[in-house]
Amino acid sequence: MNSRWLVCNVAAGVMFCAGFTRAQAPQPDGAGLERGQLPAHWITGGPDCSAVPKWQVHAYNPDLYILRESGCTNYEKPFLYLFFGHDRALLQDTGAGETNVAEIVNQTIAEWCRRNGRQSIPLIVAHSHGHDDHTSGDKQFIGKPNVTVVPLSVEGTAKAYGIRRWPTDPGSIDLGGRVLDVIAIPGHQPLSVAFYDRRTGILLTGDSLYPGRLYVFDFPAFAASIQRLVDFTRDKPVAHVLGCHIEQSNTPFLDYPIGTKYQPEEHVLELSHAHLVELNEALKSTSAHPVRYALRDFTIWPREP
Ligand SMILES: [Zn+2]
Ligand SMILES: [Zn+2]
Repeated sequence: MNSRWLVCNVAAGVMFCAGFTRAQAPQPDGAGLERGQLPAHWITGGPDCSAVPKWQVHAYNPDLYILRESGCTNYEKPFLYLFFGHDRALLQDTGAGETNVAEIVNQTIAEWCRRNGRQSIPLIVAHSHGHDDHTSGDKQFIGKPNVTVVPLSVEGTAKAYGIRRWPTDPGSIDLGGRVLDVIAIPGHQPLSVAFYDRRTGILLTGDSLYPGRLYVFDFPAFAASIQRLVDFTRDKPVAHVLGCHIEQSNTPFLDYPIGTKYQPEEHVLELSHAHLVELNEALKSTSAHPVRYALRDFTIWPREP
């Protein structure tokens, strides 16, 4: 915690805190957010791969699905997110390795359309960032009718979300009654973005914050990005911070080694706004000499570009 947050005075019965962060919601009444459920455990991969589905598809609520790729297909076991608005759907990421991702996404879209009395809905394929464990399935969507794939370039990403000055200006995309704010957060990778869903209060942070190893390839850019995300969320309700992997075990400070496909005691997917603040404080405290730094639920892991 920043010590300036603790500068408080009690005068005439009124508590005044100089520089205190604004409340994310004025009352504990649900903050006007659409509710949803996360599973207590996700399927990882194994111990018997013949008994494990290739994808776990979880409905957070009727208009937001979370898909997890099996570790039996690829040890990265990435999470994908599928949002539905009135006019368009948006998929974040397309998975790792060779998969049947388009088939699973199309099945999920068809189920949503059936439930909503629709023939179809246009799909935008977006990316948390450009690493191939999140973009390998792009080729299954490119050129398909009713599908727009956001290009893997700064120019294409900025244009898709109306970001005028990359990375400092915020952008957004309106799916029809559902606005996602888009914040450029380069540092893990040049195209990294965060999505904030105003309907559920979910903040997607890609590979920049999740329970696991946060590989930082450009430390100054990453530190500035996380500060930008803290500033952006300061006055917004954040229900969950959801990233693209789980590498941490449910034992504090302990991760699963790289390449692990079966993680029977893995950390939950969901982090909170407090983890974002914790990451920001840790980055500020180590910015002069970036070093590997394990925190309870994730590790800051500087890497050579
Ligand atoms: Zn990555
Ligand atoms: Zn990744």
